[in-house]
Amino acid sequence: MFRQKITMPALVVAMALGTVSCEQQAQNQAQGNAQALTAEDARNFITNAQAELEKLQLPAVQAAWAYATYINQDTSAVSAYLSEKFSSRQAELAKEAAKFNDIQVDADTRRQLNLLVNSFVLAPPSESAKSERLAKLSSELDGMYGKGKYCPEKGECMSLGDMTAKMAKVRDHKQLLDIWQGWRQISPPMKPLYEELVTLANEGAQELGFEDTSDLWRGKYDMPAEEFGPELDRTWNQVKPFYDALHCHVRAKLGEHYGTDVVPQDQPIPAHLLGNMWAQTWGNIYELVKPEQKMTVPNVTKALKDKGYDEIKMVKQAESFFSSLGFDPLPETFWERSQFTKPRDRDVICHASAWNIDDKDDLRIKMCIQKTGEEFNVIHHELGHNYYQRAYNQLPLVYRGSANDGFHEAIGDTIALSITPKYLKKIGLIENIPDASNDIGMLMQVALDKIAFIPFGLMVDQWRWKVFSGEVKPEDYNKAWWELREKYQGVRAPIERPADAFDPGAKYHVPGNTPYTRYFLAHILQFQFHKALCEIAGDTGPIHRCSIYGSKEAGNALNAMLEMGQSRPWQEALESLTGSPQMDATAVLDYFAPLKTWLDKQNEGRQCGF
Ligand SMILES: [Zn+2]
Repeated sequence: MFRQKITMPALVVAMALGTVSCEQQAQNQAQGNAQALTAEDARNFITNAQAELEKLQLPAVQAAWAYATYINQDTSAVSAYLSEKFSSRQAELAKEAAKFNDIQVDADTRRQLNLLVNSFVLAPPSESAKSERLAKLSSELDGMYGKGKYCPEKGECMSLGDMTAKMAKVRDHKQLLDIWQGWRQISPPMKPLYEELVTLANEGAQELGFEDTSDLWRGKYDMPAEEFGPELDRTWNQVKPFYDALHCHVRAKLGEHYGTDVVPQDQPIPAHLLGNMWAQTWGNIYELVKPEQKMTVPNVTKALKDKGYDEIKMVKQAESFFSSLGFDPLPETFWERSQFTKPRDRDVICHASAWNIDDKDDLRIKMCIQKTGEEFNVIHHELGHNYYQRAYNQLPLVYRGSANDGFHEAIGDTIALSITPKYLKKIGLIENIPDASNDIGMLMQVALDKIAFIPFGLMVDQWRWKVFSGEVKPEDYNKAWWELREKYQGVRAPIERPADAFDPGAKYHVPGNTPYTRYFLAHILQFQFHKALCEIAGDTGPIHRCSIYGSKEAGNALNAMLEMGQSRPWQEALESLTGSPQMDATAVLDYFAPLKTWLDKQNEGRQCGF
């Protein structure tokens, strides 16, 4: 996770403010002045807009930090106030920027204008009643999800957190089905609201010059919108044979555990048995599908304890990872201002995040660090965000972001992929590197989370794009959802779904209106980055065993990409590191090659496919 500048997500919030009259003014001006605008006007506009937003952004981020690290009535009110002030102004400016759509300007000005126009997730229509309605729908849907719970006929009501914990541990399929169905009672009432939201958001997108919201979302990727979907499918098809092998093995093992009447071996896997409410990551059922052989896995949690690591020492160690690549040390203020541990006397948001408060050098992380191997990974991941944020801090405001929205998470994860036994040995946390026969278990664990996720990361927006474009009509919302779930994930609804069900609404990012393709991108790119960096570092072993720790060459190459921020098309950023402008999942296959061989052997004689 990282703390995005308030830019994109907050635009949804912006609509809650009464900003509409200003937007209308902007529209009218745009129509009246279209003839007179010049390239110089465009340059002045984008320069001034960014200067103004920069001023509004700083207090808003400071307030957001104050809230996240000290939750109370006042920090909440101030943070919400400043965040809305920022994003409503940004929304107005984005609409104004659209008036330069047809003016000839230099490429750099055009890119900056486009980034401002494209910064909407849901674009508000200029008619005030409609814009207010869209804002209300958006916050109501969000609230319906947030308040969602399931109260079974017998027993106590359960929050999503309670149910998530149960899905991870319970192995009784009837109980799992009850929870799975129970949670999905929250979403049917969302459907009419969502339908209306789609119509209004499309109107707003059309005013900005897009065909619809699907066109707006797909238009953020430096290529024609209609080519983006096929490009994702091409990448997915590279991964699919490996996914199919994993799917086959998991289905067979689930069949052994639950019986083949519950898990028929010639059908998609019932969605309630994979250890996760949405069957999006499968790591929780590792025990059911793991290799039977005995394996030695380094116990990092124990090693940290034995070597006397406290929370700060863990962060210092992660910093030294980046220093070993040639990055400058973190500023003194990072150590003074970060939240490393959970305060004893106040409520905070513990969810790990990385911040750059002033968009310059005021870097911080916010965590409630536990002294475990897993958290040691998270710290490296969060610092990856921090070093990215610092690398692009010299650029104009709209360029201070990752090359596309998948890059930021991919960078954090890329760094975490280098936390291998080889690295742990170099820093003295473990004495011996287990031999390669032990890798299958580790690779299985990673695959259950990262590979199982890939088709889910793809299908959520495949569904939404079709909904926004009108290709899927409201009466088919749920049907289309399950068609995509079956097609991409090979996962099916465990029981027939009623015609009025709205199962997409039971996944946060749909009622929360958060684009999802970024997670698909991050899951592919991190392996591609890791492979390229390992090659640059001269590590010739298998890439799942590689760590780029200590390689200045890898650090230089990484930094060259990071400091481009969003100033150039993402394909150029990708090429600068990997030598190719194309997304390529070959690295995913390389990383998991030993597991693929193992899976193919397990799957001999099994019926695969869905
Ligand atoms: Zn992250």
